[in-house]
Amino acid sequence: MASTWQYVVSVEGGTKRKVKCKFSECSFMGGAYRVRHHLAGTGRDVQPCLMVPLDVKNVMQILIWLELIDRKLAEMKRELV
Ligand SMILES: [Zn+2]
Repeated sequence: MASTWQYVVSVEGGTKRKVKCKFSECSFMGGAYRVRHHLAGTGRDVQPCLMVPLDVKNVMQILIWLELIDRKLAEMKRELV
């Protein structure tokens, strides 16, 4: 998702995708999930970003909530079938 990836740059080297945060210069392994949790500051799986602007942080928190809701809805649909 563009709104997630625009805040990190990929770091060369290694077999896994490593990214560096444009705000805090933190680098860590991971996909969009971990980038969002870093920027949202949830402290889940990845250290929280201390430099992220509040508006970006808010958007990331909303994206994480939407993902949770999506997953919950999919579970509920499966149970209804
Ligand atoms: Zn950061």
